[in-house]
Amino acid sequence: MTTSRMRAARFYEPGQALRIEEIPIPEPRGHEVLVRVRAAGVCHTDIHIRSGQLPLVPGVELPLTLGHETAGEVAALGPDVEGVREGDEVVVWGARGCGRCRLCHSGSESLCDQGTWLNGGYAEYALIPGPRYLASLGGVDPVQAAPLADAGLTPLHAIRKALPRLRAGDHVALFGLGGLGHLAVQILRALSPSTEIIAVDIEPSKRALALKLGARHAVDGLDHPAERIAEITGGSGAAAVLDFVGSDDSLRAALPSLGKAGILVIVGMAGGVLPISAFTLAPEASLTTSMWGSFPELEEVLALAREGAIRCETSVFDLERLNDVLDQLASGEVLGRAVVVP
Ligand SMILES: [Zn+2]
Ligand SMILES: [Zn+2]
Repeated sequence: MTTSRMRAARFYEPGQALRIEEIPIPEPRGHEVLVRVRAAGVCHTDIHIRSGQLPLVPGVELPLTLGHETAGEVAALGPDVEGVREGDEVVVWGARGCGRCRLCHSGSESLCDQGTWLNGGYAEYALIPGPRYLASLGGVDPVQAAPLADAGLTPLHAIRKALPRLRAGDHVALFGLGGLGHLAVQILRALSPSTEIIAVDIEPSKRALALKLGARHAVDGLDHPAERIAEITGGSGAAAVLDFVGSDDSLRAALPSLGKAGILVIVGMAGGVLPISAFTLAPEASLTTSMWGSFPELEEVLALAREGAIRCETSVFDLERLNDVLDQLASGEVLGRAVVVP
């Protein structure tokens, strides 16, 4: 390393802009791995953390360098690290659990009660607790790979909940065609080619992108989407509805779009509330949420990217502009995923 300091975007307190400042480059100890960050995807969740709407889990020390979609190369290793080498190109799996509880042992580490996200991507270097959080890029460009850590992994995990119920030719409605949604279109197409995808969004540019990426139908989220979906499906409703927004409005439209024995997966964390009764949910339909995803699923989205089945639409910004980028994301101006390059 040529320098001992780095730039990082740090969260001090809710309601304040992230501060871009110079701090010492951390030194890896024990099993820790230092990653030189080449790209960090900018997630909606960080807007909610910055504003204070989403409180951090207790015990997290401030200031905190945010960023949980991180790709780069291994820069230095703690003395006890095995299995990775300096220069290896990696993407960070961020859904860190305790590693010891029932949920962690059964592969659902993203549901761990003691779980804390692996942050730190909005910096020139990120300190990772161990090599088990690093997936090999295998030739995928870091700018492409970084968003897959959440915007690719989360939809894949949600789609896996719907897949066992889908029959050939079924309709699946995707609400919200932003960072996650536009990758969901491509992942669903790759894993279930005969599925007819209905893309729902209030932004015309995002609907156009979804059609380009393989959605069969695009529906304006402001123009009675449930009625349009009923028309498209011949009255039977969608076999699965994935809501990547999760607001009052999106949930209100998603629920009546669902067909009998279908499944509604709430992915977006906008915090909307939905009254459910035996008369509002389609008969024998299921309702679930979906939370991030597993390490093998991250390897799966990387494999899809490697073979060209999915491609993240990205706009690249310098780390200095992160607060502006978060503002743009909040107002719906970002197409695909914004990625900062430190
Ligand atoms: Zn995220
Ligand atoms: Zn655990």
